[in-house]
Amino acid sequence: MRNRNEVGAIETVYDGYRFRSRLEARWAVFFKTAGIRYIYEPECFRLPSGKLYLPDFYLPDVNMRTTEDKGGIYVEVKPSVSDSDEFDYLFELSRITGKSVLLIEGTPKSSDGHLDSDGDGHYQYSWEPCTCSDKSKCSIGGYDCCKWWDNYMQFMRCYKCLRVRVQYDSRSEPCEYCLEKTGEKVSCYDDHPSLVHAAQVARSYRFDERGRGLRLTATVNGK
Ligand SMILES: [Zn+2]
Repeated sequence: MRNRNEVGAIETVYDGYRFRSRLEARWAVFFKTAGIRYIYEPECFRLPSGKLYLPDFYLPDVNMRTTEDKGGIYVEVKPSVSDSDEFDYLFELSRITGKSVLLIEGTPKSSDGHLDSDGDGHYQYSWEPCTCSDKSKCSIGGYDCCKWWDNYMQFMRCYKCLRVRVQYDSRSEPCEYCLEKTGEKVSCYDDHPSLVHAAQVARSYRFDERGRGLRLTATVNGK
């Protein structure tokens, strides 16, 4: 979402999109390189508070931990997270769309063979859809029973079916898809080589001064 405080954000063209910032474009490079289908600025929403909110990305094939959000998640990317209003907006977004929302802080990064971002504390926050039976009791400003967020959320890839999901960095939850299909418990990991590689490509990707993407890195698959 456009942030008036993002002074100096450089519009960047990549993959047929004009991104509002270089940071957003780098995450697009990450998604594309990792084979994660993405849609940039999919739809503008009017939140219950009246705020018009345009999330940065929609990832139609990525789930979060719960089965409720099957069918995609919204992703918001920020250089740093300092605006607590943002948390309220993302909670509202999750509530009205029924989708999980992921807030990423910083640029894709791989360290020690793990996927990360370089924001403060490497936090990646998430909200999940409200599952209250009585929605009237969880309204904003009222009883905030669902207004939780998690951090240390990571993109993880199942080593068997290669699906990508977002989960807490505990590395113990099995792939829901494989469990459902075969009954087999297959772990998902943020150190899957394709994710680590995609983070490296995203960080080293060069964009020219007209904002067009140029791949200059010499480390991609040895090419
Ligand atoms: Zn799987």
